[in-house]
Amino acid sequence: MSLSVGVDVGGTKIAAGVVDEKGAIIARTRRDTPSKDAPAIVEAIVSVTRELAAEHDVEIVGVGSAGFIDAGRSRVMFAPNLAWRDLPLRDQVAAATGLPVVVENDANAAAWAEFRFGAAEDVNDMVLLTIGTGVGGAVVLDGAMYRGANGIAGELGHLRIVPDGQYCGCGLRGCLEAYASGSALVRNARAAASGSAAFPGSPAMLLDMAGGRAEGITGPMVTEAAQKGDPLAVHLMAELGGWLGAAMGSLVSVFDPAVFVIGGGVADAGPLLLDPAEDAMRRSITGGTHRPHATVRLATLGNDAGIVGAADLART
Ligand SMILES: [Zn+2]
Repeated sequence: MSLSVGVDVGGTKIAAGVVDEKGAIIARTRRDTPSKDAPAIVEAIVSVTRELAAEHDVEIVGVGSAGFIDAGRSRVMFAPNLAWRDLPLRDQVAAATGLPVVVENDANAAAWAEFRFGAAEDVNDMVLLTIGTGVGGAVVLDGAMYRGANGIAGELGHLRIVPDGQYCGCGLRGCLEAYASGSALVRNARAAASGSAAFPGSPAMLLDMAGGRAEGITGPMVTEAAQKGDPLAVHLMAELGGWLGAAMGSLVSVFDPAVFVIGGGVADAGPLLLDPAEDAMRRSITGGTHRPHATVRLATLGNDAGIVGAADLART
């Protein structure tokens, strides 16, 4: 059976695994990410690959990284959180390990894993949205990863949904990420708890969870409070879902996907996020009563998606 290594380069850890043709991880290892030290991050990728390749007969290596990856799947053009600028990552890792290497955007890798082995394995056309600190996106069309002319398609977190709206981490204004990310959720929860903005419901439960300090409120606290039925937390989650659904309605007009797969930490809220998102999507689709609708599903592979997808995409 053909084996490949998948490496998931995250901001805090580098996770890697040996993956078989059915998407099963048969061995795994990890390192802490040497943050902000660009050459040390490459060294860590080489180190996990060598460790796994020493024990298994590996044919190829897929490295999934945040940032813009070129159309040749070889260079990281820009990765703001990893201090990489125009880095020839494929050639560096290949030279150090003696193995063929393919570099892939991390959201593309996660989407591919869900498409091949997870929540969207029964369809040909899907859109992934990951709701974490930011909003990631990726598109699979007609059974193939959609990369665009320059390799950087699918940056769905930066769809502009509000002209002149909230500032986004990317420097532009009104991006989906500024409204539908975990960061936006926490920003709104803290504003509600500090009284700097008016929201329906009392912040008492959230403040209690955060030891009385508005700045202590975290995303998982909002999820937990919503699951306990706290009206403010339920409202904040539904509002996020509403922005997500509005964006999905526009994406339906562009891609006509069979399925949206929603992943990332905020997706732990399950129906508290997905139901409002699906409602908003249905209201946002042109001619919505005269066409089949995309279904909305939770991602099923969790943190393994990055490893499995990078490994499997390397074979394609
Ligand atoms: Zn943006």
